[in-house]
Amino acid sequence: MDLSDCSLNTITVPSLSLQQIVDQALRRGIPAIAPWRDIVQAAGVEEAGRIVRASGLRVSSLVRGGLFTATDEAGRRTAIEDNLRALEEAHALGTDCLILVCGGLIGKDLVGSRAMVRDGIEAILPHAAAAGIRLGIEPLHPMMVTDRSVIATLGEANDLAERINSPFVGVIVDVYHVWWDAYLWEEISRAGTRVLGHHVSDWVTPIMGQLSSRGMMGDGCIDLPAIAAAVRSAGYGGSVEIEILSDHWWAQPADHVLDVALERFVECV
Ligand code: ZN
Repeated sequence: MDLSDCSLNTITVPSLSLQQIVDQALRRGIPAIAPWRDIVQAAGVEEAGRIVRASGLRVSSLVRGGLFTATDEAGRRTAIEDNLRALEEAHALGTDCLILVCGGLIGKDLVGSRAMVRDGIEAILPHAAAAGIRLGIEPLHPMMVTDRSVIATLGEANDLAERINSPFVGVIVDVYHVWWDAYLWEEISRAGTRVLGHHVSDWVTPIMGQLSSRGMMGDGCIDLPAIAAAVRSAGYGGSVEIEILSDHWWAQPADHVLDVALERFVECV
């Protein structure tokens, strides 16, 4: 895929500050970035907005809101408040998409936990719509149901988005989370223009840690071009984010990681 479609998700090179990420993107001809909130907060939200605007780069999304599930009402309210702050940060950065990692299982109650997710999204939706920011429900691989997201398939994410039925709620297709799903192709086409983002990495085994074991594009078994083509034909025309959470790659110098990632983006996606 051409670099003109690329966005650099900052977690790929977490040793870099927001300014350093911006400088790298400008130097390497990457037109967009997708920051995680920690580096935005480290820069200061206003300063982060200034850095991004001065760069002329697009911000394809802010990672992340969500984590709506909690054992009690106070916990759920705290989560909503944090999501409202995330929306303010997204607005300051000028992005129109906040990624939602929906929240893990509470007790043994999958149904109740999923209801909390829906309630949480509906609670912040008026604020998102007022700010012109769309909420991207990102289904995570089922191994993360207990602690990260009770929304584990693209089908579930589509169900949820359809039930809420707002132009400000859509889904994210992150290949690492959904590549294995027998229903992937029909769910991508069902999502259609509700696809708000597309994230790439690869699946390599053995898994060394559920959060930080992603492979570099081309090193694993995911048919990246096929998924990218399906996402495009569903109607998504936005950036494709390089998002590699990997202890292996985090241990390498950032310049080397970016050399390899961009080469692979062009060759393998
Ligand atoms: Zn992702």
